Amino acid sequence: MSYDMNNIFAKIIRGEIPSDKLYEDEHVLAFKDIRPQAKVHVLIIPKGPYVSAQDFSEKASDAELAAMHRAIGKVAKAVGVAVTGYRVIANTGADGRQEVPHYHIHILGGQNMGRMVALD
Ligand code: 5GP
Repeated sequence: MSYDMNNIFAKIIRGEIPSDKLYEDEHVLAFKDIRPQAKVHVLIIPKGPYVSAQDFSEKASDAELAAMHRAIGKVAKAVGVAVTGYRVIANTGADGRQEVPHYHIHILGGQNMGRMVALD
């Protein structure tokens, strides 16, 4: 799958649509999910054009890979869930039910997150 330069997260990175930013560095941007599914729901995305976790895993530089994972801990601290805990999700491709075709990590917390997976 080729990268769609007009996906919603590409527009957020370019500043064409607003987002509620929580963290930013050279490689990564984090912002609140527009339809939160928990008391805390943050998205972390790479600034580079990667379609999915698979694409990112295969093509990102070591610096980009490190920045994404480092951002998890920084964002968790910033939103107050580092001690209480949280769930990290990266929906990937069709079976993963990924909706936005730009790699992103969900950070969900602020409450007990229940069972890991519900199939519907
Ligand atoms: P996915 O199902 O692809 O893993 O998750 C995509 C997420 O992006 C959803 O949780 C959805 O609420 C969020 N989202 C979609 N459009 C926007 C937007 O324009 N702004 C923000 N902040 N989040 C969005």
